Amino acid sequence: MNLYFHGHDYKYAAEQMLLTLFPQERPVYPDHPPAAGADRLVLTLEEGDNGRLTARADLLFQGRRAAGEDTGCWTGGALERDRTAQRVLKMAFYRAGTRLLGREPPWGALTGVRPVKIPTRAMAAGASRGETRRRLVEDYRVSPGRAELAMDCADASLKAAASLKPDELSLYIGIPFCPTRCAYCSFVSADVSRTLRLLPPFVDLLLEEVDMAAAMLKAQGFFIRTVYIGGGTPTTLSAPQLDALLARVRERCDLSRCTEFTVEAGRPDTITAEKLAVLRRWGVDRVSVNPQTMEDHVLSAMGRAHTADDIRRAFALVREAGFPCVNMDLIAGLPQDTVAGFCASLDEVLSFGPENITVHTLALKKGSRLLGDGSGPAPALPPAEAVDEMLSYAWRSLRAAGQRPYYLYRQKYMSGSFENVGWSVPGWENLYNICMMEELHTILSLGGGGITKLIDPVTGHIQRLSNPKYPHEYLQSREKLRSIKAQTAAFLAAGKE
Ligand code: SF4
Repeated sequence: MNLYFHGHDYKYAAEQMLLTLFPQERPVYPDHPPAAGADRLVLTLEEGDNGRLTARADLLFQGRRAAGEDTGCWTGGALERDRTAQRVLKMAFYRAGTRLLGREPPWGALTGVRPVKIPTRAMAAGASRGETRRRLVEDYRVSPGRAELAMDCADASLKAAASLKPDELSLYIGIPFCPTRCAYCSFVSADVSRTLRLLPPFVDLLLEEVDMAAAMLKAQGFFIRTVYIGGGTPTTLSAPQLDALLARVRERCDLSRCTEFTVEAGRPDTITAEKLAVLRRWGVDRVSVNPQTMEDHVLSAMGRAHTADDIRRAFALVREAGFPCVNMDLIAGLPQDTVAGFCASLDEVLSFGPENITVHTLALKKGSRLLGDGSGPAPALPPAEAVDEMLSYAWRSLRAAGQRPYYLYRQKYMSGSFENVGWSVPGWENLYNICMMEELHTILSLGGGGITKLIDPVTGHIQRLSNPKYPHEYLQSREKLRSIKAQTAAFLAAGKE
């Protein structure tokens, strides 16, 4: 869509709202005036007396036209003017867009991937639940059910933040290997069998990286509060490889303040009693067994080399091994799935009694086979209305079963612009997930695809340092891994001054 600005240059604000309202459109900034009849948005900002900002949107899309307006005042410094300007511009665009479309998105005018931050800030500043709900529903046009989700997650975030100490961080270890590639995945490189041959050298370098991290943390006097080993599928590692990794983490890192140790076992076709015994022996207390669906034909359409029976067996093995906390992931909106199929999957997963259930909505990411890889037409997906029904059923069933939402996030290009929500039996919330999603403290990431997030506890500013994503890149990156530890050390040291 052609975008024209008058009186401002807030591209990011306009692009975020464009993605929310017209996810299939991409922004274009032409250097010529709008041609008659061409799709376009003209977004104007005017400043009046006493810091009054007025934004106007004039939108023409597929032959239909709509206008929107919003005003706001700023009284503080440049930062407040900046925020006010972006807010009124987004709302003017939102009003024009929703008038033209004849409907409002599930998260209303809230853009970005972390909708929980707004209620968290409001409640931390003393707003009551009622006032926070009103702001979400009336000011941001969020649906009442989603406002409730966001406020429950804000409660969990505030509780988690209060439990953290300034000299603590979380440790993430990424294992970028999987037995086969799922159709919706944009992460794992295509030739899975070739990358699996890189596992032994990958583990060797990862052990070195654990040593680097442990020495750096010790020198800076920082403690690991949570450990999370994700991927990929960490249990693609053999039992001896897992043993070597976990032994190294336990032996080299100070885990005296660590309150949870999670490993994603993810794919049931990688779970064995021997591997689970290794995890338990080294103190892992949480694992994920991720069905995504209990419908065999949907599993097969996704390229998962296992059946629902494998999931049942894997869950039984995990319980026999004595893990106190188990998470299970489901995805709403998978190709060939139906509302009935999703609801049956959720019912069965609930009947297993896992402490955590994470309900994702399918996100179509660049690089996934679901976007079409040229080998045939991209598979048909359930419509947004069906996905909405799936999610509403999940909310009702999970609340009725005593689970509560505790973290949520959105992704770009997510089916129907919905969300991913982590649910938990009260008391079993995964602290790492909250810290990660709500950016509560620094996350030090090792392994393939890990992104270290250095979070300034005073300003909230975030610096991201990325480990190489793919195994062959990782194996060439010893110096980069050292450099990331050095930058992290400097950041942690500066924070103590
Ligand atoms: S298990 Fe996860 S990381 Fe692995 S291929 Fe499937 S979606 Fe991708």
